[in-house]
Amino acid sequence: MKKNNLIILIAASILAVALTGCNPVSKSGEAKYVFYFIGDGMGFQHITATQAFVAAQNDAKGNAPLSFTNFPITGVVETFAHNRFITGSAAAGTAMSTGHKTSINTIGLTHDHSDSLFSVAHFAKENGFKVGVATSVSIDHATPAAFYAHQPSRNMYHEISHDLISAGYNFYAGGGFRDPDGDNSDKPRGSIYSRGDSLGFLFTSDLQVDQNVLTQFKSVVYSPPVSASSSTLKYKIDCSDEDVTLTQITEMGIEVLNNPDGFLFMVEGGKIDWAAHDNDAATVVNEIISFSDAVAAALEFYNKYPNETLIIVTADHETGGMSVGVKDNKYESYINLLSNQKHSLEMLNIVIRDFKEQHNGRPTFNQVVDFLASNEVMKLDLSELSSKQHEKLKAAHQASVAPQTDAQKQSNRENYGSAEPIAMASMQILNEMASIGWTTLSHTASHVPLYAIGANQELFSGQIDNTEIPRRIATAMGFSIDK
Ligand SMILES: [Zn+2]
Repeated sequence: MKKNNLIILIAASILAVALTGCNPVSKSGEAKYVFYFIGDGMGFQHITATQAFVAAQNDAKGNAPLSFTNFPITGVVETFAHNRFITGSAAAGTAMSTGHKTSINTIGLTHDHSDSLFSVAHFAKENGFKVGVATSVSIDHATPAAFYAHQPSRNMYHEISHDLISAGYNFYAGGGFRDPDGDNSDKPRGSIYSRGDSLGFLFTSDLQVDQNVLTQFKSVVYSPPVSASSSTLKYKIDCSDEDVTLTQITEMGIEVLNNPDGFLFMVEGGKIDWAAHDNDAATVVNEIISFSDAVAAALEFYNKYPNETLIIVTADHETGGMSVGVKDNKYESYINLLSNQKHSLEMLNIVIRDFKEQHNGRPTFNQVVDFLASNEVMKLDLSELSSKQHEKLKAAHQASVAPQTDAQKQSNRENYGSAEPIAMASMQILNEMASIGWTTLSHTASHVPLYAIGANQELFSGQIDNTEIPRRIATAMGFSIDK
């Protein structure tokens, strides 16, 4: 190459770099399609248990991979809140969406509620990306709300749902709304459905939306024809083939959001946390499998656009202080036993109450034992129980069949919360037998895992604070949330 040509080439390269640097249209190297998956309450051991469970289901030893566990980048995330070391979903969600720590139960406001905090989803919309928010719980629940709402309390479901309309993102999905009409609000603002209708929202229970229909609407809000309790999707463990899954709403979101200018799509596995609050390991691992399936739908998209897609999978906090390994079993674990449980604790309560009714409210202990041993409940084998577990089941049977005097009701509330005593005790025994331990019915301060793949994935390695995630997502997409 002649010297002059070389100089021209270098000059052209410098010009190209300069143009790229100042030209907002050029997105070379930046993440254009971004998935932000949050497993609510999904700690390290929840993932260990799920990987071991999947391996055991396939007669393999050790850990089977989930859709995201082999991502090239892994990180560790610190979770503490502004005013409490052990965080909650609202404060963690706000940190993970806005990049700022806030106080417990606060959604999208500073810790003293004096100012609004805006999320990476808000800034993505301002920067021309389409935005979607999906969850397996209600659409107005703390984690999704942190991406679009600004309210002093996560429990202000009505006000939060109106903020959803105001934010005007392109796609929302979940089990439904908790207070769309303001029945439980001090200052009801009217139905979000009529307000949404007038502002170009399509509320639908159909997973298939025609592209021609889509162009007529500013925003699509999906909820299933029939919701589970608290306006959620059913637990996977309780699902039949007809029930709507997190994967299906993720696929729908991709259909709605996919466009040449890109998108940011937050997807929450919300009931991992709920099952962990119940200390119900079989339901936790099934929820994580369902969450992993939803990530697989994003991975399919990634495989089509690997240079422009970024997938982040992480959690907001750990729930339950879950452990694989319990005192009485020493170094042994039997994770496969979790497959014996056929219903979530929530459904098990109903199943056992129905069974009791069939026996005039007072089944004998042996009748209970036979029922628990059946395939349809949890194949609990009485001969395998330790004497301590046997006593525990007997006590639960007594609590369940005793006349429900005020004193008995009080005692049951203290020992079993709102659960049916036999349902709760048998589930706890199965957890122990499988070697799953729990230290709390609440959250812990544990760090949580992060997995990343795709454009600018390297921004997410190492141990980082949860407020760094949205900041780095913005950087990966070519904009800033610090204005
Ligand atoms: Zn949470």
